[in-house]
Amino acid sequence: MATNSTGYNNVVGLLNIFPDEGACAQHLEQLRWPDGKVVCQWCESTRKIHRLSRPGIYKCGDCRKEFSVRKGTVYEESRIPLQKWFLATFLMVTSRKGISSCQLAREIGVSQKTAWFVLGRLRKAAAQASSAAGTLPGPVEADESYLGGKNKNRHASQKQPGRGPSGKMAVAGVVSRESKKAVAKKVERTDAATLVPFVEGATVPGSTVYTDDAPMYDALPSMFNRLHHETVNHSAGEYVRGKAHTNGVESFWALLKRGYTGVFHDITWKHLDRYLAEFSQRWNMLGLSSEERIDAILKAGVGERLTYEELTA
Ligand SMILES: [Zn+2]
Repeated sequence: MATNSTGYNNVVGLLNIFPDEGACAQHLEQLRWPDGKVVCQWCESTRKIHRLSRPGIYKCGDCRKEFSVRKGTVYEESRIPLQKWFLATFLMVTSRKGISSCQLAREIGVSQKTAWFVLGRLRKAAAQASSAAGTLPGPVEADESYLGGKNKNRHASQKQPGRGPSGKMAVAGVVSRESKKAVAKKVERTDAATLVPFVEGATVPGSTVYTDDAPMYDALPSMFNRLHHETVNHSAGEYVRGKAHTNGVESFWALLKRGYTGVFHDITWKHLDRYLAEFSQRWNMLGLSSEERIDAILKAGVGERLTYEELTA
């Protein structure tokens, strides 16, 4: 096992500790079945599971069928070596703004189409990890923001739904001052009927919510009578009044926008939530070591059974 004291916090350590399919498959197995009981992916038996000589392949003594450690996970239906998945995960979680499919293709030696597929799956894992964090403990900051170019500048075939009057894509976000975690979601509209339920759903009941003085948040306390609401009056030039500021969520938007203009300038409305999950999860893992971040994504990737629709969407 690990002889390198740096673990896999850097790419050399990662390649040393996971030199081949066998080492990677063993690590995925430990993350997927931490109690050591491998579960048959056909009949759910844990009674007599035999490890075959091929890495990550098992045979069930009850139903006599074979299955892989990848079955039912984001790594299913892919012949990409697990080491490339691990490297891609490393690059995604350690780059500040994310990594484009073109760059990933060069880094791990696959086609751009394959890199696109890998990143799509890793975003699903990030979304699982992000949603597992649950509702955010208060106090929180809530805000909305806009991404993208103007719809009127696009060719008719490129015009996208879900764009506001400016033609930009609207996103809503909540950042917890307590846990430092973030939740963000694309929104069709930035009205009270859309934003207030989003904030309420993302936040532990009874929390104080800080927003700017945009009128759509006025309904926060009255609609649900569960959240305390404090505003900072941006329109009057007020940016910080005691605790009433939204610096946390504004830092999150700043990072998202740097990623959008620098790396992912072609994000479409259809895929926007996945990128938001990737950015949120990266934000949520800022306090962790690279090794812990990699394992969080790998574990989320094998942790929950995805439906066929989710896998192929
Ligand atoms: Zn079985």
